[in-house]
Amino acid sequence: MIAARFRSLQQNSDLRRLTLLIGAALAAFGLALVVVVAYAGWSADRTAVIRERQLVENALDNGVSRVLDEQKSIAWWDDAVLNLTRGQVNTAWADVEYGAFLNETYHHADIFVLSDRDAPVYAYVEGQRLEPASAYAPFAAVVGKVVEEARAGAGDLRPRAHVFEAGRARYREQLGGVDPLWSAHILSLYGEPVVVSVMSIVPNVTPSLLHGEPFLLVSVVRIDEAFLGDLGGALLLPNLRVAAGAGAGDAGALTSEVFSADDGASLGYLQWTSRQPGKPLLMFILPLVALGVVLAGALTWVMIGRLKRASNQLAAREAQARHESLHDALCALPNRRQFAELLQVELDALVMNRNGRRVVVACIDVDRFKDVNDTMGHQAGDMLVKAVAARLAPRLEASDVLARFGGDEFAVMRAPAKAKDAAALAETLQRALAEPFELLGQSIAITASIGVAEAPEHGFSSEELIRAADIALYQAKGQGRARSMFFCAEMAADVEHRREIELHLRDAIERGALDLHYQPLIACADGAVTSVEALLRWRHPQRGEIAPSLFVPIAEEAGLMPALGAWVIERAFMDAARWPGLEIAINLSPVQFRHVDLSDTLQRLAAKHNVQPWRILFEVTEGVLLESTERNRSVLDAIRSMGFKVALDDFGTGYSSLRYLADFRFDKIKIDRAFVTDVNERKRAFTIIQSVVTLGRGLNMDIVAEGVETEAEAQAMRMLGVTQLQGFYFSRPVPAERVAEVVAAFSAVARAGEARPLAPQSRAG
Ligand code: C2E
Ligand code: CA
Ligand code: CA
Repeated sequence: MIAARFRSLQQNSDLRRLTLLIGAALAAFGLALVVVVAYAGWSADRTAVIRERQLVENALDNGVSRVLDEQKSIAWWDDAVLNLTRGQVNTAWADVEYGAFLNETYHHADIFVLSDRDAPVYAYVEGQRLEPASAYAPFAAVVGKVVEEARAGAGDLRPRAHVFEAGRARYREQLGGVDPLWSAHILSLYGEPVVVSVMSIVPNVTPSLLHGEPFLLVSVVRIDEAFLGDLGGALLLPNLRVAAGAGAGDAGALTSEVFSADDGASLGYLQWTSRQPGKPLLMFILPLVALGVVLAGALTWVMIGRLKRASNQLAAREAQARHESLHDALCALPNRRQFAELLQVELDALVMNRNGRRVVVACIDVDRFKDVNDTMGHQAGDMLVKAVAARLAPRLEASDVLARFGGDEFAVMRAPAKAKDAAALAETLQRALAEPFELLGQSIAITASIGVAEAPEHGFSSEELIRAADIALYQAKGQGRARSMFFCAEMAADVEHRREIELHLRDAIERGALDLHYQPLIACADGAVTSVEALLRWRHPQRGEIAPSLFVPIAEEAGLMPALGAWVIERAFMDAARWPGLEIAINLSPVQFRHVDLSDTLQRLAAKHNVQPWRILFEVTEGVLLESTERNRSVLDAIRSMGFKVALDDFGTGYSSLRYLADFRFDKIKIDRAFVTDVNERKRAFTIIQSVVTLGRGLNMDIVAEGVETEAEAQAMRMLGVTQLQGFYFSRPVPAERVAEVVAAFSAVARAGEARPLAPQSRAG
C-alpha cells in the first residue's frame, strides 16, 4: 500500500516536473517568438526611419546645392561684376537680374550683395528692395558665419553643399583662372530654418574684370512648407515638415527626428509620415502570433491538465487493482499474497534483530464449512465466513494481522510475539469461535482446526512458516478436527512421507499394481462363509505391503479415490461371478459420494457384469451420514432402491450415534474391532454390544463382530447374539484365487458341526 502510494507520488512529482518543463519551454518559446516578431517589426520601422532620415538629409543637402546652383547662374557673370562691383551698384539692373529674378524664379526670400569688405550694398527682402545696411542688420549674425566660411574657404559648420562642391575643379576652369568662393548652410534664423547661401560674384568670360576681393551674393531661402513639400513629394514622404516639438499630432505613423542647424542650433523637429514597413508585422502578425502563442499555451495547459487527470486516474486505478490483488473481496481482509508480504517484512526484521523477537502464524480452518454451504446455500456460507472474520477481528491484538486465504481458511500473524503467544493465540481463536453463530435465523455451532507455527524455530521465510502452519492445521484436521496443533519437525516428515506415498500410489494405480483380497465372514448359526469383504492390497516393490489404512486416506485427499473406488467396485463385481451364492462386501469411501455420481456408476457396472444387486453389500462409515447429510442420504437411498445392501461399518468408533440406525435403514451393522478385542475384560464394551444386538434384532439387521482374534472373543460374540463373525481367528483376507478353497473348507467344518475355525495348518493368512 505504502509502496503504491509512494509510486503514485513519485509519478505525480515526475509529471509535475515534466509539466513545469513543458510550460516553461513553451512560455520561453512563445515569448521569444513574440519578441522576435516585435523586434523584426520595430527594427524594420527603425531601419526605414533611418533610411528616410538619410533621404531627407540628402534631399536637404541637394536643396542647399540647388540654391548654390541657382545663384551660380547669375553670380558668375561678367555683367554682374560690371553692374555690381564697379563703383555705384546698378540697382535697377540688380532688381531685375538679382532680386526679382531669384525671388520670383527660385523663391529666394532675401537677397543681399556684400562688398569686398562684407558691407551690404544691395538688399532685396521679401519681394522688395530695401536700404541695404538696415535690411541686412538682422541677418548679419547668421549670414556672417557663412560669409566667413566662404571667404576663408573652410569652416567648422557642418558641410552641406556636397553635390555642388563635387564640381569645384570644373568651375575653376570654367571661370578662367578666377577662384570662385561659395558656402551654403542650413541655419536658424530667429528659430526658423533657412538655407543661407553665399557665392562670390566673379566674371565668367573675362577674368581681368575682377580686381581685389570679389563681392558676395547672399541668398536666404526659407525651409518652409513649400520647400519641404517639394522635397517630400520627390522622396515620396508625405507630410514632411518642421515642428517645434516632437509630440506627434496624429497617429504614431508620424516620425519626429531632431533637426539641428549646421552650427548645432536647434531647429525643432523634422516630421514626416514614415512608410513603416514593419507596421503590418506589428499591427497584424504580432497580435496573431501573440494570439497563437496564447492559444497554444491554453491548449497545452488543457492537454497537460487532461494528461494529469488521466495519469491520476491511472494511478488510482493501479492502486485499486493492487488493493484488490492483495485483499479478499468478501471480508476486505488481506489475502494470502498480502499476508505473505507482511509476514516477510516481520521475518526480515526478526533476522536483523534476533534479541528475543518471535513471530507466530496461525492457520484456521472452519470444520465442516462445506456442510453449511451445501445445506444452507452459498449465501449462508458467505455470511458465515464474514461472521467468523467479524468475530475474530476484535479478539485479536491491534498489531495482529488477520487474513483470509480463501474459502473457510483464515490466518493470523502475531509479531512481535512473546514465548507463550503461540498457545495464547490458539486459545483465543478457539474460544472466539466456540460461541454459536446466528445465520438466517438458525443457531449454528462450529468448530475450527488450527495449525500454529513460529519463527525463528520453523523458518525465516513467509513461505516456510505458512507451510508449517498449514501442515499443523492438516494434522489437526487429521486428528479429528476441532483442535489446535503446533507444528513440529515430525509433522513435516509425515507430510513428506504422505507426499511420497501419493506419488507412488498414482504410479501403482496407473500400472494396475493394486489388488483385492477377500476376508470371509462366518455365520454364527452354522459356521459357513456367507460373505466376503473386499479389501484393497498394495504391494510396493521396495516397501512391501502398504496398509490401506495408510494409503486410502492419502488417496482420498489426493483425489484419487473416486477412480480407485470405481476400480474396486468393478473388480469386485467381476470376482462376484466366481462365487455364486456368496455376498460380496465392498467398502465405500465418503469422497466417492462427493465426487462421482455413484448410483449411475453402480447401475452401469452392475449391468455390464451382470451382477445381482442383492449379492452386493456396500459398507459405509458414519462419516457418510455426517457429511452433507441430505445428498449422501439420497445416494444411499438410491443404492438401496437398486437392490444393493448397505452396512454401517466400524460402529462404535467416532460418534457411534444410535440415531443413525434409527434414521437410516441398514442391512448390517459391523461392530468395530475396538469393542471386540478383550471384550471379556471390558464390561462397558460388553454392554454396548449387547444393546446394539438388541437394536439389530428389533430392526432385523445382521450384527457382525469385526476383528475376532481368539476363540474367547468368538465365544463371547456368539453368546451376545452377534450373527456373523470376521477376524484373523477365522481367516485373514486372502487373494481371490483362494476364496473358493477357503469357503469350501468352512463348509466342510460347518457340515461337521458348529462354527469354528479351520484346522490351524489350513488357516488362511
Ligand atoms: P475395514 O473396512 O474395517 O476393514 C477391516 C479391516 O480389519 C481390514 O484391514 C482387515 O484386514 C482388518 N482385520 C480383519 N480381521 C482382523 C483381526 O482379527 N485383527 C486385526 N487386527 N485386523 C483385522 P485392512 O485390509 O488393513 O483395511 C483397513 C481399512 O482400509 C478398512 O477397514 C477400510 O476402511 C479401508 N479399506 C480397505 N480396502 C478398501 C477399499 O477397497 N475401499 C475403501 N473405501 N476402503 C478400504
Ligand atoms: Ca469394512
Ligand atoms: Ca470395519
